[in-house]
Amino acid sequence: MPNRPSKKSGRRRQKHQWPKYEPLHVWSTGCFWHGRIEATGRTGKCGMGIPCCPHCGSVLYQCSQRKWEEGTKAYEQQGHVNYIAFMAWTEAQGKCWPTIDAAAQEFTATTGQPVIFAISKGEPQPGSADTQKQNCKDQTAT
Ligand SMILES: [Zn+2]
Repeated sequence: MPNRPSKKSGRRRQKHQWPKYEPLHVWSTGCFWHGRIEATGRTGKCGMGIPCCPHCGSVLYQCSQRKWEEGTKAYEQQGHVNYIAFMAWTEAQGKCWPTIDAAAQEFTATTGQPVIFAISKGEPQPGSADTQKQNCKDQTAT
């Protein structure tokens, strides 16, 4: 039997403290899907694996929810019309799209609102990993 400290010895085991994390927002590398970390699927079976798009299994990037919201707001202020509404709508749909353009077409068809991505040539696609890297300086791949 292993030697354990006696409860009578007066020594108490120090309770482990997990570090506190900010809520995370994640977005897909291979489709257009984003959401909170709690909404992700897992690539592996039996509950283990890499967090992924819950619809197609594409792996994800991540940043804090706060930075995601700040980045989305800043992006709309730069002239990307209805970007905040578009992101809120796509998150609420419970599906992924093959591209952001496909999501934008469905957004406009459903809500009647345009979503305009004011992209200059060579600028990263809005909602893509590259754009969100700019928006979320603390991002890491999951
Ligand atoms: Zn997907």
